[in-house]
Amino acid sequence: MSKRGTYIAYIVLGISIFVLGLTSQALATAPVAQISSVTSGHLESSDRVILSKRETPFAHSPHDILTNTVQASIASIAEDLRPIDCAIDACVALTFDDGPDRIHTPALLDVLKKHKAHASFFLIGNKIAGREEIVRRIAAEGHDIGNHSWAHPNMTKLTAAQIDAEFNQTQVAIANTGVPAPRMFRPPYGKQNALVASRIPVPRILWNVDPHDWAAHTPEQITADVLKNVRNGSIVVMHDTYDITGESRAIEALSKSYKLVTVSKLLSIKPGDRNQYFSR
Ligand SMILES: [Zn+2]
Repeated sequence: MSKRGTYIAYIVLGISIFVLGLTSQALATAPVAQISSVTSGHLESSDRVILSKRETPFAHSPHDILTNTVQASIASIAEDLRPIDCAIDACVALTFDDGPDRIHTPALLDVLKKHKAHASFFLIGNKIAGREEIVRRIAAEGHDIGNHSWAHPNMTKLTAAQIDAEFNQTQVAIANTGVPAPRMFRPPYGKQNALVASRIPVPRILWNVDPHDWAAHTPEQITADVLKNVRNGSIVVMHDTYDITGESRAIEALSKSYKLVTVSKLLSIKPGDRNQYFSR
């Protein structure tokens, strides 16, 4: 479903729940016929049909609970409908390098979806063949895709022509899967120099939180390191080429305190931007 379609669906759902709430309220307070007495199996002329309001016997009747639930649901839907604004909300951009990976990238996408989180994936060009479906899934689920070079070299050792080839081949490989060509680049190992900066035509995205998940760190160490160092506006570098237990726990914990957004959302990147970023 398109974003617009999703919004419309939420609005229809919200209105339905609201109408349901009003209907239940009307039913609960409607006058009801109460027959005061019945003699010999039929109504006597003296019998009175009393119309009275149904009394609420308890402070927290089922009706109250339903009304409160409906109101809470409407408030929650309204909050979900409000677009994330990183000028107001505390936002963090999680980034995952060196994929796509056949096992870990889909597993990570499942975790992100579960926690309504978005992230950015910096892909290596020569890993894309045969994994096009994963690239399309990353884009389809609202994540950013960035260029992480073709073969993951130290870019500071390359000539201008080699830098161009690393960047351009990867742009083509990603675009050929049917998703938009990336609009950001992450130099392998974070290594760059003036020549790299002059050749790369999109923003270079670095990071300010690095739990070194590629080293032999335990899931507990990875999660603790991220939680200790992350701030509003942080860019966190991790990888989707190893077991993602630590990353998954970090996502779960962070999603309670931060909006987890793409790098382009965090930085509001405009076309033509060629700056480098470590955080917002
Ligand atoms: Zn890398």
